[in-house]
Amino acid sequence: MAIVSKIIDGKMYAGKLLEEIYPLSKGFFDNFNRKPSLTVIIVGDNPASKIYVKNKILIANKYGIDSKEIILASDVSEDKLIKHISTLNRDENVDGILVQLPLPKHISEKKIINIINPSKDVDGFHPTNFGKLFMGDSKFIPCTPLGCLYMLKHEIEDIKGKNAVIIGRSNIVGKPMASLLLSSDCSVTITHSRTKNIQEHTRKADILIVAVGIPEMIDETFIKPGAIVIDVGINRLKSKTKHNASDKGILVGDVKFENVLNTAKKITPVPGGVGPMTIACLMHNTVKAAYINKKHDFINILEGIL
Ligand code: NDP
Repeated sequence: MAIVSKIIDGKMYAGKLLEEIYPLSKGFFDNFNRKPSLTVIIVGDNPASKIYVKNKILIANKYGIDSKEIILASDVSEDKLIKHISTLNRDENVDGILVQLPLPKHISEKKIINIINPSKDVDGFHPTNFGKLFMGDSKFIPCTPLGCLYMLKHEIEDIKGKNAVIIGRSNIVGKPMASLLLSSDCSVTITHSRTKNIQEHTRKADILIVAVGIPEMIDETFIKPGAIVIDVGINRLKSKTKHNASDKGILVGDVKFENVLNTAKKITPVPGGVGPMTIACLMHNTVKAAYINKKHDFINILEGIL
């Protein structure tokens, strides 16, 4: 199989989804005389968070979504952050609220996520949305796992009955991913840092989702020949070229891409795999939030995915 056909093109899928979202954001404007709106709160100056937020805002603006960024100092108090969120919760012109994680240590992420109005929780992290996801009935599904499922459903003819193994059990990726794959009739195994003999599990995986946060941890010894590998990891390493002040380093995933390419049937690259899909799904959730907040039907453009 040619290398190129082995690569799951996340940029292409994201573009396809965004093209479907655009008429809905335009339709919202035609009906309600304003664009769907997303407000992103960023606390501190974590360079990676800044890049993610910048990308989200660029894409939002391109696809007919009004986006605002609230930048708070890294020493902002938890109370002040809560006040900002409460104001946004009450503002009927704000459809989606996203607090960029991670937050500084003195702020409880759990408390902050709990404060966001579940109808504006476009990240899908609020316990109401998270709980409903596991019952197969969520308004907002966390963007990264939703993006992974979107690509898998396009790449695999029949996902039912496949063995899916996830490495990582975070609330952001691993757990919601497990729920989505279970709802898609896969048999699901979640592994984590305390799992013994991880390869015994991963070598049985028809679908392997990797979300560990350790650069290039997964090599071909973890892979069942013919598996579909989704690499969620984003790790910024120092560039191998001569370092200079403007050097932003290189991005690598949690999977050793070149090494796994021969064994896997298909694999997502980093960058250009899960990342763009995460942003596209955020736009989907924001436009959906806008329609829901206006108590208007939202056309399900994810028919066949969810
Ligand atoms: P977390 O740090 O929250 O979770 C990492 C998980 O990996 C934990 O469950 C941990 O286990 C597990 N783990 C750690 N070390 C090992 C090991 N040696 N063997 C097996 N499991 C291990 O990370 P996230 O889920 O938030 O993110 C994971 C990666 O995905 C990161 O690189 C992050 O940057 C990236 N990411 C990318 C996104 C995108 O848009 N593409 C979006 C979100 C995240 P335990 O629970 O036991 O500690």
